[in-house]
Amino acid sequence: MRNIIIAGNWKMNKDLNEVEKFCSALALHASTHSEERVWLIVAPAFPFLKLSSQLLEGQPVGIAAQDVSAYPNGAYTGEVSAPMLRSLGLEYCIIGHSERRQYHCETNQSVRDKQLILRKNDIIPILCIGETLEQRDNGQTESVLLEQLDGCFEGVELSRGDELILAYEPVWAIGTGRTASPQQAQEAHAMIRAWFRQKYGETVANNIHILYGGSVKPDNIGELLSQPDLDGGLIGGASLQLDSWEAMVETAVKIMETRI
Ligand code: PEP
Repeated sequence: MRNIIIAGNWKMNKDLNEVEKFCSALALHASTHSEERVWLIVAPAFPFLKLSSQLLEGQPVGIAAQDVSAYPNGAYTGEVSAPMLRSLGLEYCIIGHSERRQYHCETNQSVRDKQLILRKNDIIPILCIGETLEQRDNGQTESVLLEQLDGCFEGVELSRGDELILAYEPVWAIGTGRTASPQQAQEAHAMIRAWFRQKYGETVANNIHILYGGSVKPDNIGELLSQPDLDGGLIGGASLQLDSWEAMVETAVKIMETRI
């Protein structure tokens, strides 16, 4: 059975003091919840990765970077490499987020390269895909998702399904307050899982965690997580406040406890 993953993407939010306060409070809260099958991950900005790992050391909270270079080292001003992240002891890294695809020319090809270099460095990619509103309205959701999957996994091997986490994030639902309905999300997740089944077989399809992202908040997370193919959330805005983070984690714990 798959666990539930609650991952907070802080994007370009929180300065040093805010990260310090927030992580200290997170550490306290994380130590009080004992459901091992709910995994927590937070993704602070690059400068605060080390501090966040120190403040959350010993707590069941993984740390993710929000991006990585596709290159291992060299003359790439402003970039951060997978070996650098590895040297910080990081476990996860988000790649292919729609904001990076939109503002930083991220392509399926570069997401594929980033996936490979992260895995080579024992960091689990949280790989994002999703369609725009225009694509959904034109009935292209399925073809766009399949094209993204084909591109991001071209020539990529998977054998267990825990080598990476996939995040389905409809672009029209990110930061807009407009969430996909649980049925729309389930439909996309089932299609994505079927793609993994066809390409990599039953074990990978059954084990891979597929997270939903797009205006997840305390009042909709329960219904979303009740869908059979939703294994958690990649959450932006609502992960920035402690009370909403705690409420979402508590809902996830309750749902996980009802699963056998
Ligand atoms: C995200 O940052 O991946 C995201 C889904 O943001 P929000 O929850 O704010 O829509």
